[in-house]
Amino acid sequence: MSVTEAAEIRTTCAYCGVGCGIVAEKPAGDAEVIAVSGDSLHPANLGRLCSKGSALGETVHHENRLFYPMVNGNRVTWDAALTDVVSRLQSTIEQYGPQSVALYGSGQLLTEDYYVANKLMKGFVGSANIDTNSRLCMASTVAGQKRAFGTDTVPGCYEDLELADCLVLVGSNMAWCHPVLFQRIRAVKQARGDQMKVIVIDPRRTDTCDIADLFLPIQPGTDSVLFNGLLVWLVDRNVVDEAYIKRHTTGFDRSLAQARMTSPSVAIVATKCGLEPDAVEAFYRWFAENGRSVTAWSQGVNQSSAGTDKVNAILNCHLATGRIGKPGSTPFSLTGQPNAMGGREVGGLANQLAAHLEFNRTDDVERVARFWQAPNMVAAPGLTAVEMFDAVARGDIRFIWIMGTNPVVSMPDADRVKQALSDCPAVVVSDCIKNTDTADVADILLPAAGWSEKDGTVTNSERRISRQRRLRTPVGESRPDWAIMSEVGRRLGYSEAFSFQSPVEIFREHAALSAFENCAGLRPRDFHIGGLKDISGDAYDRLVPIQWPVRATESVGEARLLGDGQFYTETGRANFVSVSELKADNVPDQRYPLVLNTGRVRDHWHTMTRTALAPRLNQHRDEPFVELHPDDAASREIIDQSLVVVSSQWGQVIVRAKVTTHQQSGHVFVPMHWSGQFSRSGRVGSVVNPVVDPFSRQPDSKYTPVELRRFVPERYGILLSRSPVALPETEYAVSVKSAACYRYELAAADDRKDGFSAFLPEFSAASVIEYDDVTNGVKRCLYLQDGDLVAMLFESQNYESLIDRAGLESAFIDDQDMALLQWQLLSGQPGKGAGCQGRQICACFGVGENAIVSAILKENLESVESVGKLLKAGTNCGSCIPEIRQLLASVDG
Ligand code: SF4
Repeated sequence: MSVTEAAEIRTTCAYCGVGCGIVAEKPAGDAEVIAVSGDSLHPANLGRLCSKGSALGETVHHENRLFYPMVNGNRVTWDAALTDVVSRLQSTIEQYGPQSVALYGSGQLLTEDYYVANKLMKGFVGSANIDTNSRLCMASTVAGQKRAFGTDTVPGCYEDLELADCLVLVGSNMAWCHPVLFQRIRAVKQARGDQMKVIVIDPRRTDTCDIADLFLPIQPGTDSVLFNGLLVWLVDRNVVDEAYIKRHTTGFDRSLAQARMTSPSVAIVATKCGLEPDAVEAFYRWFAENGRSVTAWSQGVNQSSAGTDKVNAILNCHLATGRIGKPGSTPFSLTGQPNAMGGREVGGLANQLAAHLEFNRTDDVERVARFWQAPNMVAAPGLTAVEMFDAVARGDIRFIWIMGTNPVVSMPDADRVKQALSDCPAVVVSDCIKNTDTADVADILLPAAGWSEKDGTVTNSERRISRQRRLRTPVGESRPDWAIMSEVGRRLGYSEAFSFQSPVEIFREHAALSAFENCAGLRPRDFHIGGLKDISGDAYDRLVPIQWPVRATESVGEARLLGDGQFYTETGRANFVSVSELKADNVPDQRYPLVLNTGRVRDHWHTMTRTALAPRLNQHRDEPFVELHPDDAASREIIDQSLVVVSSQWGQVIVRAKVTTHQQSGHVFVPMHWSGQFSRSGRVGSVVNPVVDPFSRQPDSKYTPVELRRFVPERYGILLSRSPVALPETEYAVSVKSAACYRYELAAADDRKDGFSAFLPEFSAASVIEYDDVTNGVKRCLYLQDGDLVAMLFESQNYESLIDRAGLESAFIDDQDMALLQWQLLSGQPGKGAGCQGRQICACFGVGENAIVSAILKENLESVESVGKLLKAGTNCGSCIPEIRQLLASVDG
């Protein structure tokens, strides 16, 4: 029996870079839900899953699936769609040259998909304009590691974060963005107590601080000053490893001199970074005292106009102490996406060749061309993400293929991206989702296989290659991305180069390229999986997670690299890189005095195309919001839960206010997830500054000058509907899928006579029972079809007077007394089973804030464990433990 015929199939989570293993029950036929659990044999998670991973099996149903190819909104055959793709591609190249075409991919693609995309573009189409949303995620780490190590290599592994005596987390809300790794660290920290110091460096107090011994609320953009200060401090106290520096590195003196310029003393560092000197001193002392130190970072470092320098400032400190690639002692970059690392291995970025070969290294271009027998091999890097969409806007790129990503939402200055794509003569989108903001502007839509239907490999943050296995055949007419691109390659006339019939054939070629002329005598590359180049189909099916390099067939991979002090630069030594202070182009001024930081929430992934399909993932944060400090709120007459316009020179959003001291005064936070599909005005990419880092070309999504003002609607509404409806045309509209219905939060600037019902054509045929209190501006409508409740609309001039959402949603539970229900609803009372849960805290067991607070008070609960014992909250994935602890503290206080 093959692996995919078994009753349970081992596969990998589709979301973050932790790369957790999943055991999925093989679904019967077209099952709408697949049972999943954590794979106890997978080294990344050892059986754990977070809220997103646990709900993955609830996102495989067919809602909003793209089933068949479409051209200009009409269903066509695959043959017609691909004929159109190829003819538009060829005619664009003929008329305007290969530089006029581009492909924009995704860290969600499997390595095999990525490999074919890169080969097609760089070797056969003849354009290096292939970039990916990974550019927005970790390009600064790639650039920083290459500058320091001569290669894009993560030297350590997850175990190092557990072994460290001093763990420094910089710009990483690991509790929400890499939750399972965070749970692993939490367990070790609990066991080791004070023997393990955890330092969190972040402008905001996030849930990651739940395990911190020290929190440094740094001013955005000053990370390099802080780490330059650490370098100076280590040198001045003789904590550096002089022998290591002498034997294995270059550039130390110059970097130290530069560090002394920016960060001569703790006092100056503290002032520049907005920190207490004692706290800075404590951080430096702990790092110095503990040979086992790990510095882990994520988007807070990478997404910056000085992201590459920040990475090098961190790496300089590890080089100075020789703490690279040793157990519990290493720098460690946390990648955001499930296969950002796999993309880097196959050259998925515009400035890379495949298999860690480089444009700027003699013979590498020719080496790849020879291996691929490529007729149109590119010789120089192409356009990176922001440059690529700028070129589309200018009309220089006239054909773009967007694969498995949603740049109209995720790119900075996103309105401009939307306009550019709308004006582009040929936009092809391949995706498994039908309605996305990007699909809306596509000429050709190609249905791609989804997570449960894909087959291939991914690489996680610790270089571990895992199989993502197909659980069932692709739905509708959807096809794997590699198969779509291979067919295009064949139709372009390259039958042999794109003859792939299965992912293992692609994997073998990818592995063979990694080993191609990668041996003693030539300049070696560390990415080497040649031991897998002859892997059989059966062995590929059974491949267990393995960390590259895998140089020989019998190799079991390597957990750590670079520990021997041998690097991949011309000299074989690592480079110290001199790092100066960030000089931001766009800084706050009178018009835009606040700094906007964007990022992720706990239960959503990217632009919500998948996570919003699982009702339980929509409850923790159900509307787009802005977090702001009470002082900034008070000075603008903004109160908690009111609506706020966040504007920059690029655009604006309207979101719900969340007033919190976790945010520093002068700084605000808005999540990146909400798109035009789920909110009328919450797409924060339209506000974000499009400035990029000069080395990595990664956009700065953490530093946009903005202003806030209260948006005061004349009318508020809640619409609940049994089936989804188009977002009503009003200033504020957000949709939230719950277990029983679809809820829409509405607000309008003017108090229109007909209220929101005028925007609901879906219910024009329904009979309406209405309560209209004109004096108080309250209106309640029930929409019935054949005696069944299909929708409810509640309107008021006052947001607070709108009744409990959870109670209202329960009205859609079947088998209710309709007469009683109608009376209850029209009189403004919640339906059966009501009882306001409040904000959801535990997504795994659906436990709300009110239930937890009430249990704490009634039962005198004093610990997270006792809450878990009574309500189960926090006992599965553990992502909500910090919030339960905060509730315990607030009730206690
Ligand atoms: Fe998936 Fe969560 Fe694991 Fe990330 S931490 S891979 S989202 S289960």
